Amino acid sequence: MSEQVDKALENLESSWDKWLSHLMELVRIPGVSAKPPPAKELEDSAEAVRAIMEQAGFENTEVIGFPGGHPYAYGEWLHADGAPTLLLYGHHDVQPPGRPEKWRTPAFEPTMGDDGRLYGRGAVDDKAGVLMHVAACAAYLETTGSLPVNVKFIVEGEEEAGSQSLERFLETYKERLAADVIVLTDTANLEAGLPSLTTSLRGLASLDVEVRALDHPIHSGMFGGPVPDPVIALCRSIGALTDADGKLAVEGIWDDVRALTEKERKAMEALPFDEARFCSDVQMVPGAKLTGDQEMPVWGRIFRQPAVAVIAFEARPFEGSSNQIIESAKARISLRIVPDQDPGKVEQAVAKHFEKTVPWGLEVKTTARESAIWWMTDTSHPAFAAATRALEAGYGTSAAFIGCGGSIPFVDPFARVLGGVPALLMGVEDPPCNAHGENESLNVDDWKKGTRAAVHLYDELSRLSG
Ligand SMILES: [Zn+2]
Repeated sequence: MSEQVDKALENLESSWDKWLSHLMELVRIPGVSAKPPPAKELEDSAEAVRAIMEQAGFENTEVIGFPGGHPYAYGEWLHADGAPTLLLYGHHDVQPPGRPEKWRTPAFEPTMGDDGRLYGRGAVDDKAGVLMHVAACAAYLETTGSLPVNVKFIVEGEEEAGSQSLERFLETYKERLAADVIVLTDTANLEAGLPSLTTSLRGLASLDVEVRALDHPIHSGMFGGPVPDPVIALCRSIGALTDADGKLAVEGIWDDVRALTEKERKAMEALPFDEARFCSDVQMVPGAKLTGDQEMPVWGRIFRQPAVAVIAFEARPFEGSSNQIIESAKARISLRIVPDQDPGKVEQAVAKHFEKTVPWGLEVKTTARESAIWWMTDTSHPAFAAATRALEAGYGTSAAFIGCGGSIPFVDPFARVLGGVPALLMGVEDPPCNAHGENESLNVDDWKKGTRAAVHLYDELSRLSG
């Protein structure tokens, strides 16, 4: 370990109070993204991040307003001649607080719990992620006056609203943001204390399906029996989306799913998994079984296999129901998709499933909805080995390569616009953090470990050719 790293780590150990109070200062700003933009709080939160960056020694700090988008905070330090340039990413906006009565402490009043977690909206998602890098950079700049790498730090204000303007923003500032490696800090560790690099994300395909039997509801006594019920017809087809184990059974749906290599499967099997804890974490009812491909480890099902959920269903509400055969029933079908599936092709396969399986000659109408492509990175670039070493040094334990079952809208624009440079996805969320929910919290110990890992990361990446 270089002397520079030692000094930075030492500085960090004596600065935690300062960083924790900066974190609390940020959590107090309710920069909720979902309001009609751009709310004043979002401006405040971008400015607060900019000011902390400036104090930390970043140069050319700026709040960048963007037409039709939310304000970004930006800062850079570009004096490491000949060393690689990192583009760091985090976001300063937050989700709405949800139901106030469910919060044990006020959402925007950061509160340290006895459990070593800091409670508050945005504490973990993503204000801790942002400050991780600010603190790690400051630790170098305050001790040695320089960083081992060049750093550009972009802090988005629109992530929780789907990063709608991010791609345009990246296109606009492409030259200014050019980098050798991207570090995106807004993901989770598989479990507390286990540093994890996210190397794949699932995509999304969705459609609405409507099954119609009649023009208007009719009396179920006078006509029930011979006249088909569209709700039952739709349910039969929905039921046939999976087999008895709950594994997707739509014709052709598995055709393009990329098989795990032997190495990937071994890695998946080596990830810690405790079924009882998994079930209790998600609060499944006692006795409920895990579904899907029983041949595949559970993490493999979440990271690398497609899945379906019926996210909305409409027939007739209980209120106002009577003994009738109703005219039609509707469902919204949402699929998580994986390499190498094409969202359009998946939508078509599911549409065809309904056309083929809805019984009794009823009318079927399907409408494609939102979709998002999956993302997966090749981990052979030396930046991944460097990140693994840095995480191990920061956390004091081996790092894991994991996938993420969800779709993160900001990853694909970065990968696309910035010319395919390696993207390191590392963050400090953990299973109990409840990001987006009530009582969101940060595991403060992991935040410290993650920040130490960032100090190591800049050093490790400085040895890649710039
Ligand atoms: Zn986030």
